[in-house]
Amino acid sequence: MEKSTTGSQAFNRLFDQTMDRMRFEIDGEEMSIEKALNLLSDTQEPVRRKAADALAKTFKDNLPTFSLIMNTVAKDTEINSRWHAFEDIADSRHLSNRVEREVVDALSEAVTQAYPRLSHRYYAMKAKWLGMDQMNYWDRNAPLPETAERVIPWDEARDTVLGAYAAFSPEMADIARRFFDESWIDAPIRPGKRTGAFAHPTVPSAHPYVLVNYLGKPRDVMTLAHELGHGVHQVLAAKQGALMSSTPLTLAETASVFGEMLTFRALLSQTTDKATRKAMLAQKVEDMINTVVRQIAFYQFERKVHTARREGELTEDQINEMWMSVQVDSLGPAIKLADGYETYWSYVPHFIHSPFYVYAYAFGDCLVNSLYAVYQNAESGFQGKYFEMLKAGGTKHHSELLKPFGLDASDPAFWSKGLSMIEGLIDELEALDNE
Ligand SMILES: [Zn+2]
Repeated sequence: MEKSTTGSQAFNRLFDQTMDRMRFEIDGEEMSIEKALNLLSDTQEPVRRKAADALAKTFKDNLPTFSLIMNTVAKDTEINSRWHAFEDIADSRHLSNRVEREVVDALSEAVTQAYPRLSHRYYAMKAKWLGMDQMNYWDRNAPLPETAERVIPWDEARDTVLGAYAAFSPEMADIARRFFDESWIDAPIRPGKRTGAFAHPTVPSAHPYVLVNYLGKPRDVMTLAHELGHGVHQVLAAKQGALMSSTPLTLAETASVFGEMLTFRALLSQTTDKATRKAMLAQKVEDMINTVVRQIAFYQFERKVHTARREGELTEDQINEMWMSVQVDSLGPAIKLADGYETYWSYVPHFIHSPFYVYAYAFGDCLVNSLYAVYQNAESGFQGKYFEMLKAGGTKHHSELLKPFGLDASDPAFWSKGLSMIEGLIDELEALDNE
């Protein structure tokens, strides 16, 4: 512990300080990384392109530092792993996630196999919408031409979420309603308020709080549903007490993503305007691709770097090449990876702060998708099993939690089930596009 202040912790700090210090110049204006990254979602192509170039330039200027940090973190992980006699470079992460290596391997394999059916197919469709044969990498997160502008009032958002929850189970809606009735949610945007959204369990003897920054976009309604899912989970699991109520990372997003899916379905069925439906579906698919495909590609990149680092220090070019190879595979032929993109690994904080963390996002999303697929095809009784799962908090292994649903995460077919849910959404989108 004492040595870590001058070891791994120091390199984490160097990373954070470098990120804070970096400036990106666009049209003579110097800006921070958040602002520059945000411009990659601008409606105007020239703005996105300039942002991409500015990002690439500053990343390149700082590459010697980022390479040193990455090499050091990979070496440090290897030393820890060797001292603990772990077999695989990611075993320490798997242990803290309470998940077996075989299960993560099955997930990673299933997602990789599905790249052509998910990201490749979706990005080809998106390129067509944008009127391009091939998108550039700065167009990947471009907003869709039909993005809805209607503002959804807060009361309507509340009714939509509670309605979607009630259609699943009145008991679940009753718990979620308390958050509104008893003022457990802070929703408006105010100066000085932190951004983003979260649900905090506080302590089991009290009640959770939810923070959102509500602007009235369909996405904000989904975020509200997401955080209320966490809230319901926290209320139900509170009976397990302070030490056992919280779940490992891999199961932490179960109720939130499930609640989001229920609300997404409700919101979509209320929407009659075709362009808005298309934008909503596309947004959902894009989010899922970013959570599942992109995070698994990140995981594979880390595996390549950490594996190669065992043989000696890696050059900037070697790390860049590893990054590009996973990006080519995962993004597919509809996205052109121009010069400059090879340095885009350098700003991902998870690689430095918590190696191999990224797969947990894909794990959680796919797990819920598989669960949702069971719900869609289920006879009655699903709700009862679902509540039992949430009430268990962190007391049970994923195999025990999933067994009542006939699911098994070590079976590759389990992950395929979750991935076919995303494919189904892409099918719906394609059908809408061809109408
Ligand atoms: Zn969440």
